[in-house]
Amino acid sequence: MAVKYWEKLKSLLSLRSLQARIFIIILVIGIVPSVLMRYGILNSYEERTVQIRTATVQNQLKIVGNHLLSNHYFSDTKTNENVINAELEMISNLYEGRVIIVDSSLRVVKDTYGISEGKTMISEEVIRCLRGESMSNYDREHGYIEMTTPIEEVGGAKDGSDSIVGVMVTSISSDAIISTMDALNREAAILQNLMLVAILACAIVLSTVLTRPFNRVTEAINEVQAGYSDKTIDVPDYVETVHIVEAFNQLLRRMKTLDDSRQEFVANVSHELKTPMTSVKVLADSLLAQEDAPAELYREFMEDIVSEIDRENQIITDLLALVRMENRVQQMNIVSLNINDLTELILKRLRPIARKRDVELVFESMRTVVAEVDEVKLTLIMTNLVENAIKYNKEHGWVKVELDADHQYFTFTVSDSGLGIPEESLAHIYERFYRVDKSHSRDIGGTGLGLAITRSAVLMHRGAITVTSVEGEGTNFTVKIPLSYIKD
Ligand code: ADP
Repeated sequence: MAVKYWEKLKSLLSLRSLQARIFIIILVIGIVPSVLMRYGILNSYEERTVQIRTATVQNQLKIVGNHLLSNHYFSDTKTNENVINAELEMISNLYEGRVIIVDSSLRVVKDTYGISEGKTMISEEVIRCLRGESMSNYDREHGYIEMTTPIEEVGGAKDGSDSIVGVMVTSISSDAIISTMDALNREAAILQNLMLVAILACAIVLSTVLTRPFNRVTEAINEVQAGYSDKTIDVPDYVETVHIVEAFNQLLRRMKTLDDSRQEFVANVSHELKTPMTSVKVLADSLLAQEDAPAELYREFMEDIVSEIDRENQIITDLLALVRMENRVQQMNIVSLNINDLTELILKRLRPIARKRDVELVFESMRTVVAEVDEVKLTLIMTNLVENAIKYNKEHGWVKVELDADHQYFTFTVSDSGLGIPEESLAHIYERFYRVDKSHSRDIGGTGLGLAITRSAVLMHRGAITVTSVEGEGTNFTVKIPLSYIKD
């Protein structure tokens, strides 16, 4: 259990888990905008407040500037000096700042702090302002706004244009703005933390809920694996889970079919192997039961026993051939071979059996065929088909073997004038142990494995086998195999 949770935690941390990815995506989508909004809104608020504050102070300073001019503040004949000083004091008190008035010869005429009066003030900002370029600067770190305001005399210049006769250098405190900002920032941080908790909860819930169907798929598969049921599984939550489950169910069905056919095969093998043994036992028992059995009877029974043992042997040989054929690991031993020669050789071997059954064996070759094949397996194919055609024939019947080829395939056809195969049996003749007429086939000596072996061998050559048959008239098997062996 602990190992399971550790594995889960590891996959979550390594981001290979879908749940971890969903969790992080929701978290990022939720948190990034809220952080950006917080800083964006606070910054633009600060900028705007500084702008408004600067514009307000500039306006007031302009009014004071006009008063200065109308009262000839820069000449010896100045009037109402106290009133103007009071106005300047008021501005500097109101905005917690300092106002310095500099005349056109850079001399400090007035300093609300009373420190620099009479001194000369040479600074770039003042000189620029005298040229008409006023400025304002917000120093966030030290908490003040600095600005220069020109004192303009309308039509004061010789040519009748406006002239700048002095400059007001003002610095005001931005502490009020900063403390408002701090308060806002604190509130935003609380809101943001609340949002963070909500988003975190959302991310946990959603990532768990969204990935739950996949866990259900795993659970269902594990249940099947544990053998609780052999029924198909069903998780209809998502199109994706439906696809996974469908694929799994298909696999399950395939496995079940394979399992069923394996069980059937084992049952058939046991049955087929048991039959000759039972006969042997019955024969031996009946011999033992007779006390003074004559020698001829012994001989007769012994012959029967030998033929049953031969049959058992035949079944085992066929079974081994089939198992070897179906073992995928088995290599194909491909050689370039003259198929005409091989056919002649096989027919020569089978001729005695044909003669014994009074069946005529004919070979017709349309052309010389050379192909890349596995000699042993092709021999098995041809022998099985021709042997069947002889075995399941009538008296005075015939078997015709034809060989032909085009540029890609060669075809090997075996036709006979035999018993034929009933239509309903045609679909089953390649099944292992299938025999059309069990008692008849038994007399003839078949095991029901020959065509299964033949078909496997044909498929291993990437070929095809087809059959047509009319009951009572005859059968025709056609094998089509590529001239060049096609590897996987
Ligand atoms: P067997 O060892 O019994 O011959 P096969 O797999 O070779 O097994 O054939 C399966 C069954 O198909 C046979 O039992 C037989 O009934 C039928 N069969 C095969 N070839 C022919 C044929 N040429 N004519 C009639 N029946 C055939």
